[in-house]
Amino acid sequence: AKRTGGNRACFYNEIESDTRARERIRLEAELKTALLRDEIRIVFQPKIDCASMKVVGAEVLARWDHPERGMLAPGCFIDVAEESGLIAKLGDRVMELACLQGRAWLDRGRSMPIAVNVSIRQLEKPGFTARVLEILNFTGFPAELLQFEVTETVAMADPEGVSQTTKPLLEAGITFAIDDFGTGYSSLAHLQRLPFNTFKIDRSFISRLAADHHSRSIVQTIIAMAKSLNYEVVAEGVETEEQHVFLKEHGCTTAQGFLFARPMPADRFESWSRGFLQPLPSAADRGNTGR
Ligand code: C2E
Ligand code: MG
Ligand code: MG
Ligand code: MG
Repeated sequence: AKRTGGNRACFYNEIESDTRARERIRLEAELKTALLRDEIRIVFQPKIDCASMKVVGAEVLARWDHPERGMLAPGCFIDVAEESGLIAKLGDRVMELACLQGRAWLDRGRSMPIAVNVSIRQLEKPGFTARVLEILNFTGFPAELLQFEVTETVAMADPEGVSQTTKPLLEAGITFAIDDFGTGYSSLAHLQRLPFNTFKIDRSFISRLAADHHSRSIVQTIIAMAKSLNYEVVAEGVETEEQHVFLKEHGCTTAQGFLFARPMPADRFESWSRGFLQPLPSAADRGNTGR
């Protein structure tokens, strides 16, 4: 539901609703072609350790390099991809690109944890787990450096199913984050049955930090809950120094947002993060043999 926001460049969302159905069908056909023509790209947004200001990882975000409309944001095509079932192919491609890039960085001596967004429709499809393990295998990217971000609303719909699918992935070393935390319909009771180890606080709470004391309380509560569950906590959509200071002072471990950097292509991310600060040593540096 959140995906409708922030897509001003998205032609699809601006047209009238009766032409929408036709446009949707056209978009679906175009997306199918886009996958064949290899028009899917990925960009990286850094995650910053609040205390040390070091780069601790990157979130991978999909883009569609559309031949006529230019670079499209996920808000323009993820919903259609999910509804049409193309999300599996799209997701595989994103994961493959991400792991290839992560491996290339590793080969140049940079161990960069990478988080990929995964839709529940991907998790539900049989074969997901096998394909992920296959991608890890042929790219040689260590599972320990890979995280999946799953949006809370959908993640909570079938916790039993999710925990079945994710078991082999967890055993391989992949970690799971609940994306947009605080906006969904999760039952707190589900938390103990699901394989997550990270909350990503939804950016709507972060953007209201200065104006709204309720948001401040909610953010503090999520941080406290993460701490007592032994989860990591990432604040998304950090845009001001004030927000960053608040988060740091209240014990938030990691932050992400335009204050630090916008999502960028791999080469720019690489030079940006070199100029910023070196990544912290990760679990994979401490004894993982990689491949
Ligand atoms: P998300 O995973 O919650 O990603 C964060 C979104 O917020 C990204 O938008 C990012 O560019 C934007 N953002 C980051 N920092 C800031 C900030 O400081 N201020 C503001 N206003 N926005 C910020 P993007 O790239 O348009 O992605 C939107 C959503 O699309 C993502 O939300 C995610 O749910 C979905 N998505 C993106 N890539 C994929 C993918 O490969 N697969 C799937 N299934 N979903 C994806
Ligand atoms: Mg995400
Ligand atoms: Mg999010
Ligand atoms: Mg989101």
